[in-house]
Amino acid sequence: MTYMSEKTLKYGIIGRSGRMGQEIENVFTQAGHELTLAADLAGTECWSSPDVLVDFSSHAALAGTLSLCGEYGAALVVGTTALSAEHIAALRTLSKERAVVQSFNFATGVNVLKMILRDYAPLLADWDMEIEETHHNKKKDAPSGTAILLREASGRDCPTRSLRLGGVPGDHTAHFANDGEVLSLTHRALSRSVFALGALRAALFAAGAEKGFYTFEDVLRSAR
Ligand code: NAD
Repeated sequence: MTYMSEKTLKYGIIGRSGRMGQEIENVFTQAGHELTLAADLAGTECWSSPDVLVDFSSHAALAGTLSLCGEYGAALVVGTTALSAEHIAALRTLSKERAVVQSFNFATGVNVLKMILRDYAPLLADWDMEIEETHHNKKKDAPSGTAILLREASGRDCPTRSLRLGGVPGDHTAHFANDGEVLSLTHRALSRSVFALGALRAALFAAGAEKGFYTFEDVLRSAR
């Protein structure tokens, strides 16, 4: 599946050499967009001014990403996890001048799960709830940003269990139970390309959006 569009984006990747950076380059290239900036731990190269930067790297890169947005007047899509409240505040400051799309998960299904939990977890307020997440064994942060996002959507400060196994791109389950019933809601990413496809959808949105701070839910709802 690709998202083709009339508009050819000039885009930059922060974290180009990483697992997600490589997926993003593949998906954006297949859809006909032009890579004009690349940054990672080895340094930054820019061949032409980008319309949008896509950052899937490390919280340590964020200050540099924000200054690149200022330098090139680029919109921003941020998928990097383990961001602090200060990092989110810095993104909100940038969003007063540019479109910024931030999400700890760019898979459509996870964002629908977030909406389900926001609406229905309050009906199970007297049930036990735990979130379980499984990721590949190279993942640096735990719990995952997605587990935090789902916990916040549910409005419950519930326990979260993290498994780090093999090459799993990302599984999340919200478990609920009382004495008589068990309800488990699961999302599984079958490939990292789902996150890259979501990032492309967000980049096309950001390139045409007014300045402001957007989530991937806003991007999904904008298409309805
Ligand atoms: P990775 O370790 O494979 O790659 C990290 C990349 O970031 C590398 O290119 C590295 O050189 C670069 N980098 C690290 N520190 C940097 C710095 N200080 N300055 C510039 N570049 C720097 O990691 P990955 O698996 O590709 O994941 C990257 C990020 O994306 C993680 O935070 C991960 O949790 C997140 N992620 C988000 C989603 C989502 O949908 N939001 C999905 C998957 C992964």
